[in-house]
Amino acid sequence: MARIVQLSDELSNKIAAGEVVERPASVVKELVENAIDANSTVIEVELVEAGLTKIRIVDNGDGIENEDCLTAFRRHATSKIKNEGDLFRIRTLGFRGEALPSIASVSEVDLKTSCGDEAGTHLYLRGGEVVTHELYSSRKGTDITITNLFFNTPARLKYMKTINTELGNITDIMNRLALANPHISFKLMHHERKLLHTNGNGDVRQVLASIYGIRIAKNMIPIKASSLDYEVDGYIALPEVTRASRAYMSTVINGRHIKNFGLLKAITAGYHTLLPIGRYPIVFLNIKMDPLLVDVNVHPTKLEVRLSKEDELFSLVEGSIKKAFKKEQLIPEVATKA
Ligand code: ADP
Ligand code: MG
Repeated sequence: MARIVQLSDELSNKIAAGEVVERPASVVKELVENAIDANSTVIEVELVEAGLTKIRIVDNGDGIENEDCLTAFRRHATSKIKNEGDLFRIRTLGFRGEALPSIASVSEVDLKTSCGDEAGTHLYLRGGEVVTHELYSSRKGTDITITNLFFNTPARLKYMKTINTELGNITDIMNRLALANPHISFKLMHHERKLLHTNGNGDVRQVLASIYGIRIAKNMIPIKASSLDYEVDGYIALPEVTRASRAYMSTVINGRHIKNFGLLKAITAGYHTLLPIGRYPIVFLNIKMDPLLVDVNVHPTKLEVRLSKEDELFSLVEGSIKKAFKKEQLIPEVATKA
């Protein structure tokens, strides 16, 4: 007797959710990235109890066509790639078509979306099942609310940390997305508290000021460098402004914020002996490269990427930070003191 069965969509979405939707911050990341991919210029995020009770994301982007609204919640359904060739030229943040079905399978989703001209769609789903599907008139853009996150996955719900920890994770993601997209205005509200607000005028230093305060941002040193395959620009804080964790180094490759330990090591190596042991700098680096040289299809959350010429990038980053400090005469001065 056959013992292998094809799992239902419902079950396979829940399995995918285990990877893509780890905590409220993952929901915020996926939904804000969707808003960015939809050409939004204003994105607002509202949270209740660090997103555990409610996450609402309102954008003024392209909206979802009425006939696409149900498909958007199907696994591996995406408007962002069509064929294998596209997979090697990814210019959007999403492409796997996993976020909406995964999130929907472990929460309640209220989606209002419109492409502008005619009436849009209102959809309500519970645990991935459609409860309401109707026409709805609203302005162009998407307004999506997630409630009751993990209501049907008690183990995951138990694993949630304190409100402060979850909120810290969300703020961290939002800060990185805002830095990577200075042309978009981001607002993050938790109950009545405003945790981030950027004006979307394209000035990275102003985004840094919204996150770290004007004093730190004003003193950050701009860096700019390029090699055969990479272009790097960004801002580095003075070595006396340090933090106890590596979380204040933000790195963006082709518009996607990524985590790469080698890159963080290259940054701290650039600070040379200027950093006290166990302390890390505040840095933002924006890296541009040929999309053919970077594989973002490594992990469902796309935080990790594979770079084909890593060493070239690492030495470019280390070298350009050292050069910036030499220019500011920070390296010789402190090196002789040591
Ligand atoms: P992916 O982003 O990988 O394509 P998702 O499951 O996150 O997959 O989203 C599925 C599709 O729904 C997207 O390809 C996009 O067409 C549409 N979509 C999702 N969110 C938005 C949004 N805020 N604005 C416009 N379209 C959206
Ligand atoms: Mg997506």
